[in-house]
Amino acid sequence: MSELKPCPFCGGEGCIQRHEFVGYTDTFGIVCLDCGCETRQFFTHKKTAVRAWNRRADSAPTINTKQVKYFDEDENVWKIGEVIVSE
Ligand SMILES: [Zn+2]
Repeated sequence: MSELKPCPFCGGEGCIQRHEFVGYTDTFGIVCLDCGCETRQFFTHKKTAVRAWNRRADSAPTINTKQVKYFDEDENVWKIGEVIVSE
């Protein structure tokens, strides 16, 4: 499944779905196995569905995080956590 880039929302694994409608040509879409977001469009070719999914993945912003040390007052210990930083 390496042709699919990670989900643009959660980074999860995308999965190709085949939609079968009686009397119509099968269509394809992509759904994220982790958060459930999907292309919400019926593509007649698998390749087109993959391209649409990957285009969204390309435009997803990168989330930068950095590690910070903080004091947990409940457990009375120092811990390492992660915060989101801009740029
Ligand atoms: Zn997802």
